[in-house]
Amino acid sequence: MNKLGFGFMRMPLVDPNDQTSINMPLLERMVDRFFSSGFTYCDTAWMYHDFMSEPAVGKAVVSRYPRSSFTIASKMPVGMIRSHQEGEDVYARQKSKLGVGFFDYYLVHNMNVANYERAKKFDMLSFLRDKKDSGEILRLGFSCHDNAEYLDQVLSECPYFEFVQLQINYLDWESEGVQSRKCYEVCVKHGKPVFVMEPVKGGTLAKLPAEAEALLRSVHPDWSPASWALRFAASLPGVEIVLSGMSSLAQVEENTAFMKNMDPLSHDDVIALQDAAELIRKTVAIPCTGCRYCVEESTCPKNIPIPGYFALYNTEKLRERRDWSPEKNYYADYVLQGRGRASDCISCHSCERVCPQRIRISEWMRSVAKELEENNDMLV
Ligand code: SF4
Ligand code: SF4
Repeated sequence: MNKLGFGFMRMPLVDPNDQTSINMPLLERMVDRFFSSGFTYCDTAWMYHDFMSEPAVGKAVVSRYPRSSFTIASKMPVGMIRSHQEGEDVYARQKSKLGVGFFDYYLVHNMNVANYERAKKFDMLSFLRDKKDSGEILRLGFSCHDNAEYLDQVLSECPYFEFVQLQINYLDWESEGVQSRKCYEVCVKHGKPVFVMEPVKGGTLAKLPAEAEALLRSVHPDWSPASWALRFAASLPGVEIVLSGMSSLAQVEENTAFMKNMDPLSHDDVIALQDAAELIRKTVAIPCTGCRYCVEESTCPKNIPIPGYFALYNTEKLRERRDWSPEKNYYADYVLQGRGRASDCISCHSCERVCPQRIRISEWMRSVAKELEENNDMLV
């Protein structure tokens, strides 16, 4: 199985608070290691890293390797365009930012109800089908965070889509909110290959609660928690690519080493993962994947860095030592840089309308404020 894809949405940064400060020398070493291990699939998108992912992939991949040695996937940000012409312009700029003449894979990004209607309204689906017919797009697909019933509807109405990118991981497999299993089964029913995003759930499954990790280590002592998560997704028949948003050379080295010659999980392994998921569910407070839709497809009137605060909150809640909190320090840094506090949230719900995990963000902001603002001496 050669299913590992490099997701260019969590690249290494020089400044952790600046998504555009991509550490290019390190990224190039990561890309070199990925390709030298026999993998080829590179996934980017218009808005990743505050619009700087595509140029970074252009530099680290396209300008340094023969075009035939890798495959590129990017996505039409239909949620951000306001006219057909703007969609055409974005598509042309993506090709130029990447430095490619064609896309091996091209997706409609986040095909939810609003974006599907918008794609039809601006006639973007015909535009993309024309690009496919002309050979500029080799395979046309879409990513989807919506429920299985809706996915079934889209695939029935648009049978020309050739693959679907889904959020699949062992924690969300039976989740009623995400419906990983049900969505996967819809794709199988329609005969569409599945490309997996968020197999490690935005890093949540890389660092497990002690009890869950001990359980998995008792089955395979040498497998890291992140490798369990990738193995789960890659073991599903019909899954063609499993994306990993790799941020360090160590992650690339680990992932490429075991994904190169990976055997599918056994029945007993899957049972162990189900048991681990039960243990994890008891501890992770907010099921945020860090996808950033809430800050990139929506504008918070209070300039609150939602995924950043949720990540801090989740880590704070898992913390065993309570005598000192780096999370409160990070939180105060955000505020010092002029970002809104969690307690500034006015419950306008605009972020919630685009959250694929259907998180009640405004309600959680009250908990974040209580946890990270109270008794935080670093806030002035
Ligand atoms: S609900 Fe709160 S966090 Fe979300 S956009 Fe509105 S003010 Fe910002
Ligand atoms: S709150 Fe929702 S939209 Fe925002 S980063 Fe988390 S999962 Fe994504």
